[in-house]
Amino acid sequence: MKEGTSAKAGEGWMRTESGTGKKPLGVYVHIPFCVRKCLYCDFLSAPASGERIEHYVNLLLREMQASADMGQLQNYEAATVYLGGGTPSLLTARQLDLILCKLGTLLPFRADAEISMEMNPGTVTRQQLADIRSIGINRISIGVQSLQDDELAALGRIHRAAEVYHLWEWTEPLQFRSRSLDLMSGIPGQTKESLRATLKRAVSLAPEHLSVYSLIVEEGTPFYEQYPDGAVDEDTDRRLYALTKVFLQAHGYERYEISSYARDGHACRHNLTYWMRGDYLGFGLGAASLMKEVRFRNAAGMTQYEEDIAARETCGGESVRQQGVDSVPEGARQQGEDSVPEGARQAKACPVFPYAEREALSVEDRMAETMFLGLRMTKGVSEQAFRGQFGYDMQEIYGNVLKKHMKDGLLAHENGFFHLTERGLDVSNYVMADFLL
Ligand code: SF4
Repeated sequence: MKEGTSAKAGEGWMRTESGTGKKPLGVYVHIPFCVRKCLYCDFLSAPASGERIEHYVNLLLREMQASADMGQLQNYEAATVYLGGGTPSLLTARQLDLILCKLGTLLPFRADAEISMEMNPGTVTRQQLADIRSIGINRISIGVQSLQDDELAALGRIHRAAEVYHLWEWTEPLQFRSRSLDLMSGIPGQTKESLRATLKRAVSLAPEHLSVYSLIVEEGTPFYEQYPDGAVDEDTDRRLYALTKVFLQAHGYERYEISSYARDGHACRHNLTYWMRGDYLGFGLGAASLMKEVRFRNAAGMTQYEEDIAARETCGGESVRQQGVDSVPEGARQQGEDSVPEGARQAKACPVFPYAEREALSVEDRMAETMFLGLRMTKGVSEQAFRGQFGYDMQEIYGNVLKKHMKDGLLAHENGFFHLTERGLDVSNYVMADFLL
């Protein structure tokens, strides 16, 4: 369905104006399929047949319905939807439309909702891209990584630079609200010159958004066997990182988060929801959620994921609805039936909370998350928002830590916000670790 057109009952999305009194929700949908595994990848993704993909799409629809039946969507409206993976562009436009339409029947969408989708070059045709736009997807994030063919080959990617340029050309007439190019630094064999050439070509396409991640060699990947000490040495990694920052800022991109750059108004709102700890609900294999200060996560194995959906449909939903997400005891599924509160025993085999993981966040957890997620953003964390949420001044809780890092020039205090300095952003993990309570 085209963005801005009205929906028939039971079909398409219901767009609502903001100011309806409903709470904004970020919706994440995980598509765990790829053409083949890249050599560095430890994400939850694998090749799959068309039949398997179709089966999975049906599972997603069932999961969304169960979620609505459990009351999880009540009083919310979708402010952002993010189809991530894996490679969501392996789904047909019909399958993507089914997912969005199902969501739209269960949850109103804000009139200005950001609907993002990740796609990989080499997996999309011109027609498919047009269809993707026509069903209302208004933001795309393209997994480019590099515009040097030898680097793409070293990463085990299925595409080459020419496919990126074709895909980009096809996006031009479609008026996506934002297009992001996702790049990588620290690729084996990458030099300052080759990275500069990639950045130069990337900005010449004039994307509204760029993400640039440093390659991390993860255990269990083929890269780990090949490069157990990292794909590039630390000095090179630092130099490439610094080059990226300087180059993109000089070309008019604002760095609004450690790895994210945007032109005016094109920051990814879905990702901002994560860093600002807004409520979000994840659907699909291994998908994570934060709702009403409870973090929970779907199973990472397909069999358990499917069983959990069935449990939500038959009885889990009823028990979760009765108990409320917040009141279900920690680890209830693992502890067995004896630990299930009386009212939750709908049937003998009913798990109380049919998800793989659940953690109700304490006030200390929430404060720490507010700081270390918020400091990822260059604008930092608002003192006023902190006080409003917790009833304490940030200085009362973190006075010593703030003082120490300000003295070392890693943190700054400006206009009621604490934020990392340029130097602090370079060693962000070290600073953020200090905010754990
Ligand atoms: S395309 Fe992305 S998710 Fe898929 S294997 Fe490659 S890195 Fe992993």
